[in-house]
Amino acid sequence: MVLTSSARRCALCFGLNHDFSEKSGQIAHVDKNRSDSSYDNLVWLCLEHHDRYDSRTSQSKGITKFELRDYRDKLYAVVENITENLSRTAQIAPDLERAQTDQDTKRNERAEELYLLVQGWSATVSAIYRNLHLLVEDRITFNDHLDAVISLGKNNPGEFAKLSMIVNMYFPELKLDLAKAQIATSKSSQITDKLREEWESDYYDGYRYKDELREAEAKMHHYCRLLLDRVADIVRSA
Ligand SMILES: [Zn+2]
Repeated sequence: MVLTSSARRCALCFGLNHDFSEKSGQIAHVDKNRSDSSYDNLVWLCLEHHDRYDSRTSQSKGITKFELRDYRDKLYAVVENITENLSRTAQIAPDLERAQTDQDTKRNERAEELYLLVQGWSATVSAIYRNLHLLVEDRITFNDHLDAVISLGKNNPGEFAKLSMIVNMYFPELKLDLAKAQIATSKSSQITDKLREEWESDYYDGYRYKDELREAEAKMHHYCRLLLDRVADIVRSA
């Protein structure tokens, strides 16, 4: 009982020096009376402290039995606390493992959802670029283009918002790739602004933006492709 209560930590090393290490030692009698071996009269002391405690003849100079009991009881409380925590951790370990598995499963499901969202978003952006080509070539009016963009947004409401939310919550490692793809696609609105001004002028010449549009489109495809590949890697590794 004394051995397990103290876990072989010396009550005086603990009480006087805050030393909680395991010691080779002996069971000592608190009141130095060997005939009383009740639990309350016993304590684990290291060899050095046992010698010193027993050799004190005058208790006023040495450690009193009250102090010793106090240190001992505090030590027992600490040992009990640690033992309890260890067994509690052992009890909840399966729960923690299950929670981790659930989270992995959720991430895998989200990865597949993200793949579809990125694919859909790339298709939406590609459609916008296709329309811009028609506008540049003067085959549709600026209003036709706006209608097309608006209906694309209506068909896929909140597509990009959802996509970036999933990246932020579950795949922060993709944030940079997403930002690059987003910057590459946002070039379409800059070109749209220029074409609107052009459209409002008397002599429409959208064709001079053809190269800029091609270049922006290639970049957009490149970065969307990269993002999609990275999501595909995550889905595969799951
Ligand atoms: Zn000691």
